[in-house]
Amino acid sequence: MRQSDATIKRPTRDHAQALRLKLTLMGVIGGMAHLFLVWLCLYFGYFRGGLSVFLILAAADLSGRFVFLALVYSGVNLRFREPGLVLPHIAWATLCVLAAIYFVEQGRLVLLMLYLQVILFGAFRLRREGYVFITALAVVGYAAVIAALWAYHPQGLNLQIELLQLLGFLFILIALSLVGGQLNQFLRRYRRQNLKLKEAMDRIEELAITDELTKLYNRRQIIKIINDQMALAARGINSFSICFIDLDHFKAVNDTHGHNAGDMVLVKTSELLASSVREVDRVARFGGEEFLIVLINSPVDRSVEVAERLRRRIEQANFKDVASGLRVTISIGVTQYHPHESLDDLLKRADDAMYRAKRAGRNRTISDHPGA
Ligand code: GH3
Ligand code: MG
Ligand code: MG
Repeated sequence: MRQSDATIKRPTRDHAQALRLKLTLMGVIGGMAHLFLVWLCLYFGYFRGGLSVFLILAAADLSGRFVFLALVYSGVNLRFREPGLVLPHIAWATLCVLAAIYFVEQGRLVLLMLYLQVILFGAFRLRREGYVFITALAVVGYAAVIAALWAYHPQGLNLQIELLQLLGFLFILIALSLVGGQLNQFLRRYRRQNLKLKEAMDRIEELAITDELTKLYNRRQIIKIINDQMALAARGINSFSICFIDLDHFKAVNDTHGHNAGDMVLVKTSELLASSVREVDRVARFGGEEFLIVLINSPVDRSVEVAERLRRRIEQANFKDVASGLRVTISIGVTQYHPHESLDDLLKRADDAMYRAKRAGRNRTISDHPGA
């Protein structure tokens, strides 16, 4: 059965990939901001390792970031379960911050402050397990850094202050996770509702072009299709024909077998018509017991052959599941579109041909083609 042409418009893969690239690039810029702060610590004399350690840290940090950038830029990231690579990227940023913190003496809090934007990003983009993992990595890592400092560089280290900072850091991470979780939930609900809305729109679009009983195109849609074909034909791209079909003595079917049986005949006839033409052809219920078929790229003599095939198929079809002994026939008027004529002229010619078929005794095909 012919269904709607409506295409489902969802965010494309390209669009999602462009967003990933943008976010990864932001990660690289964040990494550079972090390195700039570390360099300032070095410049002001708060960095224990000296220039060589700074350069090693910076090289490691940036090469990691550029690996993520290269993965997303090349599209290799699409092979991963989570193509945004958010969790590994944030884990890498966390490790880089922890390494720097080990060497920075007075500016640790500043580095942590900047690191909070990484965590905030994670709270939005990560699933709960991912966020818990990152939080644990950050807190345990920070505690490990303090422990290592206590073991190897205890001079100037105030454990009570460090403990306070660690606890404060932990509380902020928990608070961010709550805020992020809420926002994340909201975002998911918003996406779900958007998808539902999209589906509803598609359904409405389909209903607007479909005949409810037969599921064929309705009159409005077939007129739009003909108008489109006329525009193509005017540019010499396509020549098409139309078949105007009317069920013979259909009133008698209703009168004899009831309106429901009449509906069933319409449905079955629709199925037979739709399954007897090519994919490219368009079948519609034009109204009541009338159908209209647009035969794409089909001259009138070939269209008459198609119409005859349809007529015979209906004539020979078995309608006994509707009512025993029921026979159905159709009369068909066929005509080809003449470039630059109006829609009304085209329809009138097909309608006239169909009425001539009725007058000639029904159950036949008539065209305005001299040879047919
Ligand atoms: P002809 O061979 O001259 O076309 O005769 P006919 O009886 O088919 O034509 P007429 O125009 O007199 O009757 C058409 C009938 O189609 C009348 C109407 O009740 C019936 N009809 C129109 N739409 C529907 C429908 O949706 N369901 C049913 N069951 N009948 C319908
Ligand atoms: Mg009629
Ligand atoms: Mg009729």
